[in-house]
Amino acid sequence: MKKIIVAIDGFSSCGKSTIAKALARETGYIYVDTGAMYRAISLFCVQNGLMTDQEIKLEELEKEIKSISIEFRANAAGESETYLNNINVEKEIRSLEVASGASKISTLGFVRRELVRQQQLMGEKKGVVMDGRDIGTVVFPNAELKLFLTASAEIRAQRRMDEMLAKGEKVDFETVLANVIERDERDVNRTESPLRKAVDAIEIDNSNINKEKQSEMIRTLFAKKTF
Ligand code: C5P
Repeated sequence: MKKIIVAIDGFSSCGKSTIAKALARETGYIYVDTGAMYRAISLFCVQNGLMTDQEIKLEELEKEIKSISIEFRANAAGESETYLNNINVEKEIRSLEVASGASKISTLGFVRRELVRQQQLMGEKKGVVMDGRDIGTVVFPNAELKLFLTASAEIRAQRRMDEMLAKGEKVDFETVLANVIERDERDVNRTESPLRKAVDAIEIDNSNINKEKQSEMIRTLFAKKTF
């Protein structure tokens, strides 16, 4: 069976990682969560005083960027977790504060160039499912299978809120919706690699599709590309 690259792009909280993880598990492919990499840089900036609400210390971050280590390691259940400079930060990077910072950090050209370089290395041998915002347009423009996921902002905010509540976090719908809308606007309007559907990507609006139906569609698309 032919090994391919699967690029999954789309707006925040529209189920990209759930789909990507499931597909990677079923196919034995490596899953790469590129959003986690931007989140790890955001956390690094918060921890080291390089980012406040008002500013990012650009010169200092640019000096540090190549020495920041981001890795994915499997936990006991076989799930991939994010390590920043050898420390497991999987939980910390999922907060709304870190997400908001990641969305700002991801507008910076020097950060994107470094992370894209690392992502391209991870996909060098193919057999990867990578999700993000620019995978089908910038990281792997020749990916064999490109998906572009969308859903309404309200539905995405509700799903995100349910996830956070399930983890015992206290959040309200308006705060989560505002975070989703703010990040969408930044992703679409930034100059560096704005979020776009690649011309050859298959768009799936999953506002009204259940997970099983969506997985079935993706399995069929994958099978067509690999045989
Ligand atoms: O996907 P996730 O919400 O974890 O991504 C965090 C932030 O990183 C997003 O708001 C987005 O701005 C940015 N991002 C990006 N390019 C990627 C992945 C994520 O700009 N390939």
